[in-house]
Amino acid sequence: MADMPHTLITADVHLQPDDTDPINQAFYRFLDQDAPKADALYIIGDLFEMWVGDDHGLEHYATVIRKFKHLTEHGLPIYLMYGNRDFPMRRAFFDATGIQFLKEPALVNLYGLPILMLHGDSLCTDDKAFQRMRILLRNRLVTWLFLKLPEHKRVAIGENMRANSQKYNLNKAENIMDVNEAAVRKLLQRHPQCRHLVHGHTHRPYLHQIEQDDQIKHRWVLGDWRPETEVLKVWSNQTLELVAR
Ligand code: MN
Repeated sequence: MADMPHTLITADVHLQPDDTDPINQAFYRFLDQDAPKADALYIIGDLFEMWVGDDHGLEHYATVIRKFKHLTEHGLPIYLMYGNRDFPMRRAFFDATGIQFLKEPALVNLYGLPILMLHGDSLCTDDKAFQRMRILLRNRLVTWLFLKLPEHKRVAIGENMRANSQKYNLNKAENIMDVNEAAVRKLLQRHPQCRHLVHGHTHRPYLHQIEQDDQIKHRWVLGDWRPETEVLKVWSNQTLELVAR
């Protein structure tokens, strides 16, 4: 199995602006050792704990930017999807890294197998307050105005939002923050040819089986990096596997 061609999918790295953080260290090892052996790497949201603009990000995450650039220059295709924490990434980030932007939900064909990928926050429809906030923040005009603010203001707003979401989530019921089953079924229904859905966001790595239209469908949930995680390996023989990293 070890030499078989494969593709890697990960999410929720939540990289910190501090190279010595164990999460950063683990992810750098993954980029140095695992990524070069793969056919492609998909990062499906929340790569960064916080991204308040390309100017700030390119400076404070210079190590990982350099590693991405090195990998893409050596022929590894890397695809990235926005998460709920790092969606203000723009052109300068993609130019500096050579990473290709992937709009969610993405239906990707890997080795002949159609796989549906999304970050996962859009499926958490029971959390009404979060969804209202999500719509507001993802508004193009709101993001555009935010990115016009001076850097120190954007950093302050970002820190504030992070603290608030931590405080708020502590008081929220566990099930409210998980995906909504009906939302998952509806999404799968829209892509009847696809039997594999992959997402992150909830930080609850698991393989769920869903029966729909006389078929068994699979919902693969990726783990966050703390610093250990579970990433998804899609092998060229069309088998999928959550592996510890
Ligand atoms: Mn998320």
